[in-house]
Amino acid sequence: MITYPLDETDHALLAAARETLLRAYHEERHTVGAAIRAASGRIYTGVNIEACAAGPCAEPIALGAAITAGERAFETIVAVGGRDEPGYVLNPCGNCRQMMIDYAPEMMVIVEYEGQVCKVRARDLLPGAYHHFDGQPY
Ligand SMILES: [Zn+2]
Repeated sequence: MITYPLDETDHALLAAARETLLRAYHEERHTVGAAIRAASGRIYTGVNIEACAAGPCAEPIALGAAITAGERAFETIVAVGGRDEPGYVLNPCGNCRQMMIDYAPEMMVIVEYEGQVCKVRARDLLPGAYHHFDGQPY
């Protein structure tokens, strides 16, 4: 997998995700925070929503906030988590990887990979992904 180092804007995004999680943290309801930077440069955040029927992850909450604000193009996303030490980078689950490919396959995703925090393309996180919208490869 091709990885890229974080730059200054990525560290700012990571800080936004951590601040969001710490502000909303609840050990049973909100244990993951996410931040997404749109092509406009604006950052949108969200936290996961725990519910009895499995609530949404933090990433779709952040993406939905950005879309609600009118954004349609996205540069980078990150999620952080942790009950004991909130703030470490949390790699996206399979559902979120598919969502990222559906909305922004070229978007960068900050992940922990082989012991390093780095960026990877969303499309590289789910090889052979399902193609929901048009059936064409991304
Ligand atoms: Zn997820």
